[in-house]
Amino acid sequence: MKFKNKTFPLHATESCLYKLTKYRNIYFDLDNTLWDFETNARDTFREIFDIHHLWNTITDFERFISTFALYNEQSWEKYRLGQIRKEELRIERFCLTLHRLKIPDHNLSGLISDNYLELMPQKSNLVENTLKVLEYLKPRYRLFILTNGFHDIQSAKLENSGIRHYFNGIITSEDTRWSKPDPRTFEYALKSVNAKKAESLMVGDNLILDISGARNFGMDQVFFNRKMISHDMNITYEINELKELMLIL
Ligand SMILES: [Mg+2]
Repeated sequence: MKFKNKTFPLHATESCLYKLTKYRNIYFDLDNTLWDFETNARDTFREIFDIHHLWNTITDFERFISTFALYNEQSWEKYRLGQIRKEELRIERFCLTLHRLKIPDHNLSGLISDNYLELMPQKSNLVENTLKVLEYLKPRYRLFILTNGFHDIQSAKLENSGIRHYFNGIITSEDTRWSKPDPRTFEYALKSVNAKKAESLMVGDNLILDISGARNFGMDQVFFNRKMISHDMNITYEINELKELMLIL
């Protein structure tokens, strides 16, 4: 774990309910920070492969997963830039994935997209120690979700994985009209719940969307570096496991 500010007070013990932090509001990214997107996506696609008997058509499941991850990210980037609409994003990522795998079946893309939107939010795998950390933080701070997803989908993920009640609010890019890393997203997220910038902290796994976005807005950040990537960005805190949050907060 790395701390930019070495003199930050970390002397409180576990028996002390309130540590001496300046924070009152903790904003969490959802996908791959608390909700295990990668595991849940794999489970969803296994189910979809069963439904449409795709195991003989798409024999390399891992290639399907990595191809989808690529186009999903690309399509989201186009959506963030306003180049495509929500409905186009939802179908395009599957069209491009199947096309790359030499299965240009537009009808199948639509069916997979419908299945994905229905099944994915029902999955409930959480990142390790999510419940333990939320249970610890809940009496101490106001907790919020700040996510680039769609409101109905992200809310369903929180409900179905049993963590909705930990949060004082869910703010999605659909609510803000902007997406992370746009500083206006963070500004909206704070203003809408009367939170002060100096008392707020962003926790996320994405160096650009969560960390760079919060930093450019002037808000402290915790980079959840799950994959231990190397970087040279100046970050307030960096952790490799979620439970390390309990040492900071
Ligand atoms: Mg994320």
